Amino acid sequence: MSDDRHLVVVGASLAGLRAVEAARTEGFEGRITLIGAERHLPYDRPPLSKAYLDKSDEGPVSTEFRAESVITDQLDVKLLLGTAAVGLDTADRIVFLADGREVRYDALVIATGAQARSLPGTADLAGVHTLRTVDDAVSVRAALDAGARTVVIGAGFIGSEVASGARKRGLVPVVIEALPTPLVRAVGQEMGAVLASLHTRNGTDLRCGVGVASIEGDGRVQRVVLEDGTVIDADLVVVGAGAIPAVEWLEGAGLTIDNGVVCDENLWTGVVPHRVV
Ligand SMILES: Cc1cc2nc3c(=O)[nH]c(=O)nc-3n(C[C@H](O)[C@H](O)[C@H](O)COP(=O)(O)OP(=O)(O)OC[C@H]3O[C@@H](n4cnc5c(N)ncnc54)[C@H](O)[C@@H]3O)c2cc1C
Repeated sequence: MSDDRHLVVVGASLAGLRAVEAARTEGFEGRITLIGAERHLPYDRPPLSKAYLDKSDEGPVSTEFRAESVITDQLDVKLLLGTAAVGLDTADRIVFLADGREVRYDALVIATGAQARSLPGTADLAGVHTLRTVDDAVSVRAALDAGARTVVIGAGFIGSEVASGARKRGLVPVVIEALPTPLVRAVGQEMGAVLASLHTRNGTDLRCGVGVASIEGDGRVQRVVLEDGTVIDADLVVVGAGAIPAVEWLEGAGLTIDNGVVCDENLWTGVVPHRVV
């Protein structure tokens, strides 16, 4: 007898792809739909701030995990890319999409991951970027290649990797870190100090213990003003201020949200049904 159940996975990145692969590996024979806000096939993000920023003058970045035919033909998964989920009705089991479509499911996997934290008031200022998606990486690399006066906000992993990409082009990025030591929460005071000296030895202008007062420009970023009054001219600002769970679309769906979706040790949200495989 054929299986007429429909598994819907929202979020077409690493976790979403692994979820559909696991469903097939475990023998699920019903329909599967994978929904992603980005227009790209699932891809690997770590190279975006490393190998990709190291290089210039190469074609479009491709870090796709699987070819499209593997997903659609071998795994028999319907792809809905370039359309975000904007709402969820867990009673009638419907995912609402930004383009107006409604997708009914028997089981749902929420794999919308995280989005980069941006700074308020910068959304309309060209030249200010976060680095989360392949599209972000393309923009940041183009600006670095063009010799942008680069200011990085946040001396965490991604901020440091952007600074490294700038130095490889001979630029002198200014890295602003609000805390007295970079990455102190992740690696502690001692290792943070080592990382700070690495920045300095490699020619990055690292400024710790000072916050950003404003990012200014007329349509396009022109300067960053620090809380101590320092003004830094900038053509490119990369905000590396961490990530936040991408859960806005779940507002009002009745799930427990507390810095992400609260679930049990089996990743179950508590909303029935629990398992399809
Ligand atoms: C530049 C960069 C460098 C990194 N480097 C490292 C590293 O060196 N080592 C390491 O361990 N980790 C690294 N990471 C983190 C790693 O990439 C993440 O842990 C991983 O991507 C998490 O995968 P995920 O599928 O859970 O979520 P995500 O990759 O966040 O994917 C979520 C997907 O859901 C989509 N989505 C969000 N909201 C919606 C919606 N409403 N509707 C539809 N789709 C939606 C998003 O577009 C995205 O494609 C890095 C991340 C970045 C951005």
